[in-house]
Amino acid sequence: MEKEYRGHVVVLPYPSQGHINPLLQFAKRLASKGVKATLATTRYTLKSICVTNIGVEPISDGFDEGGFAQARNEDIYLKSFKANGSRTLSELIQKFQDSASPVSCVVYDSFLPWALDVAKQHGIYGASFFTNSATVSHIFCLIHHGKLSLPVNLASTPLLIPGLPPLNFPDLPSFLKLPESYPAYLAMKLSQFSNLDMADWIFGNTFEELEAEEARSISKLWPAKLIGPMVPAAYLDGRIEDDKCYGASLWEPFSEDCIKWLETKPAKSVVYVSFGSMVALTLEQMEEVAWGLKESGLHFMWVVKESEHDKLPDGFMDSTKEKGLIVTWCNQLEMLANQAIGCFVTHCGWNSTLEGLSLGIPMIGVPKWADQLTDAKFVEEIWGVGLRAKEDDKGVVTKEELLMCLKEVMDGERSQEIKKNASKWKELAKQAVSEGGSSDKRINEFVQHLIRPNKK
Ligand code: UDP
Repeated sequence: MEKEYRGHVVVLPYPSQGHINPLLQFAKRLASKGVKATLATTRYTLKSICVTNIGVEPISDGFDEGGFAQARNEDIYLKSFKANGSRTLSELIQKFQDSASPVSCVVYDSFLPWALDVAKQHGIYGASFFTNSATVSHIFCLIHHGKLSLPVNLASTPLLIPGLPPLNFPDLPSFLKLPESYPAYLAMKLSQFSNLDMADWIFGNTFEELEAEEARSISKLWPAKLIGPMVPAAYLDGRIEDDKCYGASLWEPFSEDCIKWLETKPAKSVVYVSFGSMVALTLEQMEEVAWGLKESGLHFMWVVKESEHDKLPDGFMDSTKEKGLIVTWCNQLEMLANQAIGCFVTHCGWNSTLEGLSLGIPMIGVPKWADQLTDAKFVEEIWGVGLRAKEDDKGVVTKEELLMCLKEVMDGERSQEIKKNASKWKELAKQAVSEGGSSDKRINEFVQHLIRPNKK
């Protein structure tokens, strides 16, 4: 009997770690439901992808040898990606057109709206995938529609947006306060909405329960299907075989050494610290984190990317080698899932936030820019799964502040409540993607439509 053709989805991420991870995970999830899925990624990042069950095909951003680092700045990179990406994505779709599995839909990173134009030129579906929270996506959507103007300047009152909790100045995405700080990125954030009304679907990597009120009140302007958390299945519902990591690592992970080290530590005793793939700390901030960790007396594992190593204070590595492990990169989820981890000091990138929530790890937010500031507010105030370390007048989280947060989260007055909330959200995240859960239903609706296109 001929196998039922369930559609072919090409998934296109922006080529950074925090974007490849959730889109690749979505591709795996679709493949697990019988859809043919192909990840289209830049030639430079292709070698970093290692997955089974889905196809991987190259496209070009114009910087095939060095990716973003090869471009001189964001503006040059994004323009080149649009020009070269549109052309090579179109060629890729064309290549499949005469095969047994023509492409039926392009699921593209919302940062790359030109991919929707390419999909429409080929007469196929286009779906935009947002990698930020619903809250943050909504804020940028309001700016695009002229309902919020920049720069957002708050003297004392919080910003009140229907459906969202009151947002104080420290909670706002940095581009709203300092639009001139990264003009190309701000333009990209706003361009997510430029042709969105032509998209056949909008997906958000969050889940209804997590941002329930936000999701309800924003659905008119940003009618997204919430399909998250896009975290490997081994940490949630287990319905994808052997799915323990995303399958993409732009840097070499030292996970085995880390696991061996963690295995020698008591349960919930280690602080895992990571600022994600893009944040570069100031020298001063690096020192404060370093001495805060040392003075806490706790065991810690700290991901310090090679480019940041020079900023570690003199003598720090030697003086903490009994207590700490510093690695340049690891499989973060595997670390968070280890019994020894008791707390996650995070920059609150959206993926890290979802990972902390999905694994039920109490968090300390040390956000630095972009959407991290808003995510950190939710960690502390809305979901109650951790604390947000407060910055001093110079924007630095001091070692005293970090120490205070570490004490409180590991063993302080609020510790039990935080742990209880963390367990609750872990369970809710699992439910959302499990059979019959809110995100699972949304994904199934999409898959059903690919199978029977006339019943949207
Ligand atoms: N990550 C990792 N190993 C590390 C540090 C981070 O695998 O040593 C992963 C992490 O699991 C997450 C992604 O990198 O999925 C970072 O995404 P996030 O949105 O948290 O932050 P960004 O890097 O985009 O600022």
